[in-house]
Amino acid sequence: MGLHLAYNIDLDVAGLMILVILYIVVRTNYSVTDDLIQFRRFLVAAALTVAADIATCVAIGSARVMNPLLASVIYMSYYDLQMLAGYYMCCYIAILKKRRGGGDDYHSETLLPGLIFVGAVILMIINLFMGFFNRFDRELGYSHGPFFGLMFILPLIMVFISISLLIRARSVLRKWEIRTILILYTLLVVGIALRVTILPEYMPDGFLIALGALGILFSLETPDYRSLMKTMDDLERATRIKDNFLISITHEVRTPINTMLGMNELILRKSDNDEVRECAENAVEAGNTLLSLVNDLLDLSKVESGTQEIVNAEYEPASLINDCYNMISDRAASKGLEFTIICEETIPSLLKGDMIRIRQVMINMLTNAVKYTDKGSIIMEVRGREIGEGRVNFIIKVSDTGIGIREEDLPKVFEKFGRADLPRNRSIEGTGLGMPLSKGLCQAMNGDIEVMSTFGKGSIFIATIPQEVVDPTPLGTFKIGGEHKNIAPMKYHLFNAPKAKILIVDDTKLNLKLIKKLLEPTQVQVTTAESGPKALSLLEEEEYDLIFMDHLMPDMDGIETYKLFKESNSSFNKNTPVIMLTANAMRGMKEEYLAMGFDDYLGKPVIGEKLEQMIIKWLPADLIELL
Ligand code: ADP
Repeated sequence: MGLHLAYNIDLDVAGLMILVILYIVVRTNYSVTDDLIQFRRFLVAAALTVAADIATCVAIGSARVMNPLLASVIYMSYYDLQMLAGYYMCCYIAILKKRRGGGDDYHSETLLPGLIFVGAVILMIINLFMGFFNRFDRELGYSHGPFFGLMFILPLIMVFISISLLIRARSVLRKWEIRTILILYTLLVVGIALRVTILPEYMPDGFLIALGALGILFSLETPDYRSLMKTMDDLERATRIKDNFLISITHEVRTPINTMLGMNELILRKSDNDEVRECAENAVEAGNTLLSLVNDLLDLSKVESGTQEIVNAEYEPASLINDCYNMISDRAASKGLEFTIICEETIPSLLKGDMIRIRQVMINMLTNAVKYTDKGSIIMEVRGREIGEGRVNFIIKVSDTGIGIREEDLPKVFEKFGRADLPRNRSIEGTGLGMPLSKGLCQAMNGDIEVMSTFGKGSIFIATIPQEVVDPTPLGTFKIGGEHKNIAPMKYHLFNAPKAKILIVDDTKLNLKLIKKLLEPTQVQVTTAESGPKALSLLEEEEYDLIFMDHLMPDMDGIETYKLFKESNSSFNKNTPVIMLTANAMRGMKEEYLAMGFDDYLGKPVIGEKLEQMIIKWLPADLIELL
C-alpha cells in the first residue's frame, strides 16, 4: 500500500522549517510579553497548518488506499488550523492596538474571529458525515462536494476581519507595523493565487506565510525594535504630560499676572511720585511681556497637542487689515519706519474663517518686521487668490528692510525658541515662540507660512490661509487706517456718571476691589456681588444700568447666572445690558459669549480705559458726562 503525494510539497516543507525555526528563536531568545504570546500562538498554528497541508496532500494523493474517515479528519484539521492561525493573527493585532493605547476592547475585538473559528470547526465536523464540501472514498478517491466553493468564505471573512482590525488600529499603530502585517496578508493571497493559477503542482502559500511571519519577527518583534517602541511610548506619554502641564500651569499663571497688572495700574493712577510711577510703568511693561509670553506658550502647546480650536465665523477682511494697521502703526512710527498696506481691490468683502487667529499671525509678522528693522520701510500686501469651491487663498505678505536672516539660520525661524543670529539679536526682546506659533496656527487652518530673506537687506514673510467666501463683492479701494487711524490716544478718566448704577459680579474679591477703585474717579455707583446667587438676589431688588459678569465662578458660573437671571424675568433689570468680564481671553470666546446672549465682552486684565470705554458704550447717554 503506497502513499502518494497529490502535489509537490517542497515549498511547504521549506515553509514549515522556517516556521519551526522562528518558533524556537522566539521561545528561547525573547522576553515574554502579551503580543509575543499571541505571535507565538500564531507561529504554532501556522506551522501546524503547513504540516496538515502536507498531510492533506498525502491524503488526497492516497485517497483510494487510506481510511476515508482518517483522510477527512486530516483535511478538516488543515482547514481548521488555518482558521486558528487567522484567529491568532487577529488577537495579535488587537493586543498590539491595546498596548499602543488604542483602548481596552481586546475581548470584544477578538470575539467575532473566535466565533468564526468555532463555526469553521462545527462546519467541518458536519462535513465529515455529509460531505457537502468534499469527501474521501475508497472507490471514487477524493472528490469535491456540491458546496466546495463555499468553503473559502470563512477564511475570506477572517482575512477581512483582521484587515478591518488593522484599519481600526491605524491611529495607534505605526505605519511600518501596519505595512508589515499587510505584507503577510499579501503574501498569503499571492500564495493562494499562485496555487490555483500557474503553480497547480505546488503549494507555495505555506512558504510565503512563513516569509511574512519572518518579516513580522524582524520588524515588530526584534528586541531592539521592541525597546525602541517602548522608549517611543514613554516619550509620547511624557510629551502628553508636558503639554497638559504647560496648558494648566499657563492658565494658572495668568491669574496672578492679571492681578499684578491691575494693581500696578492703580499705583500709576494714584501716585504722583515720578520714581514710583517709573517703577510701576516698568512693572506693567514687564508684566505685559510676561503675559504675552504665557499666552504664546499656551497657544503653542495647544497647537502642538492638536487641541487648538479653530473657530470659523464671518468677518470683513477690511476691518481685519484695519486692526493690524492700528496695532502696528504707532510702533512703526516711533522707530521712524514707513508703514504701508497695499490691499488688492478684488479681495471679497466678506469671508468666513478664524479672524482672531489670522490677526494673531499677521500681528506676529508685523511686530517682527518692526522689531528687526531699524530704518526703511515695512510693507504689508494682502491678496486673495481663488481656489475654487467658493474659497480663496488669503495671502498676507510682510516685507521689511531690516537686518535680514542668514541663509543657514532660515530653518531656525520656525523652530520653537529658535532665534536666528542670537549674538546680534540678543538686545532685541523676543522668545522665539512667535513664528513657530504662527506656523502652527496657519497649518491648523490648512494654510502655511514661509520666509525669504537676504541677510543685511530685509525679509519677506508670506502667510497663505484658505478662507470661505461669503460675499464675493470686491473690497474695492482700501483706505489705510480709515476711521481708526486718528483715534485719540487713550486717556484716564474719560467721563463722570454719578447717577449710573453698575453691578459687578466676580468671585475674586481682589478683582472687585480693583474695578471699584478704577471707577472711583467716574463717581459711578458700583455694587459688587461675589457669587451668582448673590447677584441674582441683588438683581431682584434693584435696577442697574449695566452688569459686568465674571465667567468662571465656583458653584454657579457666570453663564448659569446669566441664564437664570434672564429666565427670572425680573421686572427691574429686563433691559440692562450684561457684559461678560472674564480672564478666559482665548480667541474666539467673544463670539461664543455674544451667541449666548451677552451684550459685550471685556477681557481681563481689566485696563482702566477699556473699562471706561465699555461703560461709555453701554450706559444710557443721559447718565454720562463726557470729559
Ligand atoms: P522672537 O520672539 O525671537 O522674535 P519669533 O518666533 O517671532 O521669535 O522669530 C524667530 C526668529 O526669526 C527671531 O528670533 C529672528 O531671529 C527671526 N526673525 C523673525 N522675523 C524676522 C524679521 N522680520 N527680520 C529678521 N529676522 C526675523
